[in-house]
Amino acid sequence: MSEAIRDTLSRPLASLRLSVTDRCNLRCRYCMPEDDYVWLPRAAILTFEELERLVRIFAGLGVHKVRLTGGEPLLRHDLPTLVRLIAGHPEVTDLAMTTNGLLLAKHAADLRAAGLKRVTVSLDTLRPERMLAFAKSARHADVLEGIAAARAAGFATLKLNTVVIRGFNDDELADLIEFARSRDAEVRFIEYMDVGGATRWTMDQVVSQREILEVLGRRYGPIEPLRDDARAPAERFRLPDGATFGIIASTTAPFCRTCDRSRLTADGTWLLCLYAAQGVDLREPLRRGTTDDELATLIRDTWRGRVDRGAEQRLAVVDRGVLYPSASLRADPHREMHTRGG
Ligand code: SAM
Ligand code: SF4
Ligand code: SF4
Repeated sequence: MSEAIRDTLSRPLASLRLSVTDRCNLRCRYCMPEDDYVWLPRAAILTFEELERLVRIFAGLGVHKVRLTGGEPLLRHDLPTLVRLIAGHPEVTDLAMTTNGLLLAKHAADLRAAGLKRVTVSLDTLRPERMLAFAKSARHADVLEGIAAARAAGFATLKLNTVVIRGFNDDELADLIEFARSRDAEVRFIEYMDVGGATRWTMDQVVSQREILEVLGRRYGPIEPLRDDARAPAERFRLPDGATFGIIASTTAPFCRTCDRSRLTADGTWLLCLYAAQGVDLREPLRRGTTDDELATLIRDTWRGRVDRGAEQRLAVVDRGVLYPSASLRADPHREMHTRGG
């Protein structure tokens, strides 16, 4: 493969998160707490052919990891067809999806057959009544069914994402580890982030990596850090009894220095950072008839100028509060987490 394209901090262009829709069938309080939202116009949503073309260009520039996300990716009609198109590019060696699991039972086998390699299911609580209160959905059983279906479909790995929030689910850490163990999955605890959309965020609700380790250490005994991929957002740990889990400490110990990720929204806005205020519009040149080479040049040049390290910069903010008030999110929904993809 050709030499990686590197940004100003020498971080390679290697990983792309494709948000395939901004719609969602949950209303998690840390992501979509408002009563109503401004949606991307339908005509602006990239077709599968357009998405595949962009993935091909990104893959030609060194992207080998692609993760489908959203909004809820399984709300995008006929997602296995897109998976098949992307999986057809041999440069993409790691094709994964993050989903809330509500529709996974229905689609897991087709997605696997289409070439999806890995699945991450978001599971914040094992208690249906908490999900109802926190994500406005009574469909907890569907998520568990989705997890079982993913296991049965034979994905290489199954991860469970849990955003830990003080006073909501911070008493379920060990239960979630045990649940993951029983499903041959691995849980990753995520610190509550002050990303766009998290309009109820406050620092006192954040349960830090340190605190998570303390709580689990008291329950299980000494916890051993595992040294694996330094580029992966999760730090992994092993309990004395052998169970492993991860922590994504994006709020208290961000990992911007090794971040090789960028994001493409469903309408073709390319974001160099989860916290970036603006993105680069790739849809307009795509639909104007720009050649692949010209698009590749635009992407290459943009990445070479990348300076972003949003989460690290947030660390320096005194009296850290909400990143964007809801009026600013309504004015530009690209700033929403559910639009740019987690
Ligand atoms: N809807 C899918 C899901 O929930 O898995 C995919 C998109 S969602 C935006 C991707 C991930 O972002 C989820 O695991 C979710 O928990 C996480 N997320 C959303 N808002 C967050 C926040 N404020 N802090 C930390 N993680 C967040
Ligand atoms: Fe929850 Fe994911 Fe939907 Fe956000 S996009 S509300 S995290 S399910
Ligand atoms: Fe990467 Fe931005 Fe997240 Fe830092 S804040 S890890 S640069 S996406």
